[in-house]
Amino acid sequence: MRTADIRSRFLDFFAERGHTVVPSAPLPTPDPTLLFVNAGMVPFKPYLTGEATPPWPRATSVQKCVRTLDIEEVGRTTRHGSFFQMNGNFSFGDYFKEEAITHAWDLSTRPVADGGFGLDPARIWVTVHHSDAESRALWRRVAALPDERIVARGDEDNFWSMGVPGPCGPCSELYYDRGPALGRAGGPAVDEDRYMEFWNLVFMQYERGEGPGKTGYPILGELPRRNIDTGMGLERMATLLQGVDNLYETDETRPVLDRAAELAGVRYGADPADDVRLRVVADHVRTALMLLADGTAPGNEGRGYVLRRILRRAVRSMRQLGYGDPALADLLAVARDRMAPSYPEVAEAYERIADQASGEEDAFRATLKQGTTVLDTAVARVKADGGRQLSGAQAFLLHDTYGFPVDLTLEMAAEQGVEVDREGFTALMRAQRERARADARARRSGSTTDTSALRAVLDEHGPTDWRAWTTLTTES
Ligand code: ATP
Ligand code: MG
Ligand code: MG
Ligand code: MG
Repeated sequence: MRTADIRSRFLDFFAERGHTVVPSAPLPTPDPTLLFVNAGMVPFKPYLTGEATPPWPRATSVQKCVRTLDIEEVGRTTRHGSFFQMNGNFSFGDYFKEEAITHAWDLSTRPVADGGFGLDPARIWVTVHHSDAESRALWRRVAALPDERIVARGDEDNFWSMGVPGPCGPCSELYYDRGPALGRAGGPAVDEDRYMEFWNLVFMQYERGEGPGKTGYPILGELPRRNIDTGMGLERMATLLQGVDNLYETDETRPVLDRAAELAGVRYGADPADDVRLRVVADHVRTALMLLADGTAPGNEGRGYVLRRILRRAVRSMRQLGYGDPALADLLAVARDRMAPSYPEVAEAYERIADQASGEEDAFRATLKQGTTVLDTAVARVKADGGRQLSGAQAFLLHDTYGFPVDLTLEMAAEQGVEVDREGFTALMRAQRERARADARARRSGSTTDTSALRAVLDEHGPTDWRAWTTLTTES
């Protein structure tokens, strides 16, 4: 089943059961706690918290998601895309656990000829929160699941909250056993690549108080109106139904992977390191397409920096595959053709998208050209001296003079088995920023101190914004 068919089958199923079909929100979100929408429930938050009255008691959507925390996983696990689509059904004070579990089970296992996904019921495992006897009983009754395939888990995995006071509650996840070739037996607690999570049901039934974070906060009581929030990974369902190993090989990304392999003249499946690179390219090109279509532009901060990193990793991966010419416009066109049936906006904005991506690619190729030799020489010298670490001063020089972001230096040095003195680098960056600040202060106070030396530093190097890193590493 094609991804686009899984998508519409899901929406049809829930529309037939009284849910209003709500279109995906754009990826960049006004939600102040996030850079991008990272789950189907994000656009519905005001309805779930009670801040706004939901226009419908039940809704269903296929939401575009970008999870920056998952970027490092891409290509290495079988199941994490930096962009993915989350199919969801939502109840705002309407139905609760029994219907949510019944619907998820029914759609997952109903025969394909009958409008379902036709998964083998004998290979489905579920998790429940250890306190949630009600859900365990429902899984036994509704799905006739044996107790061994209902795994109890603790707060860390199976209790949901928004991280702030408000609604919270237990979750229940559905996993599919993809067989011994993909990992060890024993259920999702043992191996989550073999037992792949494909659907998460959140039962918002309590209200939580102030507390440190994910766990350890007080439960204040039952919510007056209980909600259901579910998320089924569209690409994960496609992986299962298309019988492929991983989500990069499904119909919306595999053609990009194949085109990248063709350009680079490598064969997918021939070399594990190249395979990871090909999967990274397939994933990142599609993510960039969707972000650019939704109006994010490459930049040095926040959203723009995430996009810039994604584009650069795609370019670098192509280079590592042995292809040094511009490739993005070519690859983006392949991704566009796969995504346009569900997202016509990517075709409409394609020319702008290709221009922006190619502009970024050209600039990055120039940066690489300038800095790569400097980096390689420095790394070679470290190695010749029997060392294992590139100095902070070298990383600073690469950043400051050659425009190498430190993450690039780290990554390229690591590929050659050399570490980077991050602390030394950070100290130099801080010193530079303090010089710039002192200069600005002196100017504001009208001081007659001679700041020409500081001025010269600022003029030459410009102030450096270090926030991009903090946002990237703390955002989920
Ligand atoms: P995992 O444990 O596999 O990382 P998760 O528990 O973080 O998944 P949820 O936050 O529960 O995922 O999201 C709901 C559903 O969205 C998951 O059950 C999965 O099907 C899908 N999903 C989550 N993250 C990704 C991703 N990076 N790529 C593709 N699908 C995803
Ligand atoms: Mg996850
Ligand atoms: Mg999980
Ligand atoms: Mg989950």
